[in-house]
Amino acid sequence: MNKHTAINVLFAVSLLCLFFLHLSHGMAWYLYVVLVLLYTGISAAGSYFIGLSYFLYSYTRAAGIQRHIAITFDDGPNEKTGVILDILKENKAPATFFCIGQNIPGNEAILKRMAEEGHLIGNHSYRHRHSFPLQQPQIIAAEIAQCNAAIEGVTGQTPRLFRPPFGVTDPMVARGIAMSGMYSIGWSMRSYDTVVKDPQKLLSKVSRAGAGDIILFHEAGIHTAAILSQFIQNVRAKGLEIVPLDRLLDIDAYDK
Ligand SMILES: [Zn+2]
Repeated sequence: MNKHTAINVLFAVSLLCLFFLHLSHGMAWYLYVVLVLLYTGISAAGSYFIGLSYFLYSYTRAAGIQRHIAITFDDGPNEKTGVILDILKENKAPATFFCIGQNIPGNEAILKRMAEEGHLIGNHSYRHRHSFPLQQPQIIAAEIAQCNAAIEGVTGQTPRLFRPPFGVTDPMVARGIAMSGMYSIGWSMRSYDTVVKDPQKLLSKVSRAGAGDIILFHEAGIHTAAILSQFIQNVRAKGLEIVPLDRLLDIDAYDK
């Protein structure tokens, strides 16, 4: 039973109890409103915070037994991916790129380079629309398959790592991912590199990473390329090793 199902049961039981208390003791009607608001709040938090694993299990970190971390980049491939790849190569650091399927046509060479330089490629949906979590599970599964086909068409490998657009999950997304047989991947540290305007702030935030962390970056982040090299040096200076996501989580990144 996932957390969502457990809360549904709890909610139904509470509603029933309230109903009987209402009948027997004349409990105030506003308690129904409080209960519904509570349920709505829990569901909204479960949708927004992928780390809660509310609707489905999402990998967001590794048990920190070893001093490993993984770095991930979302929303590529795009015109900034090449610079990120240069920095990762200079620093011999592996990463995972969660790619948007519709960005691949025209950027095949970048995708090939990711694979050749030892990075993992994950699926980040085909279109990355805000309406993604509102689709029927079959449509979600089809879009995941469409992105996988685009990646496989270039690299020959079919991803199993899926990061939901915006990290938003709900019962439809959970069902679509289950139909696809993908692993749902979140993060434990969000860099907010698309909004943080001060590079020093960004650097000091992400440099606080600790064992087991999965860090979320974007290739198109405002200062991501500018701080990446120093970030890698900072975490290595703390004795942390940057490893590919499949090694951090001990799962397969691709279909065999
Ligand atoms: Zn995204």
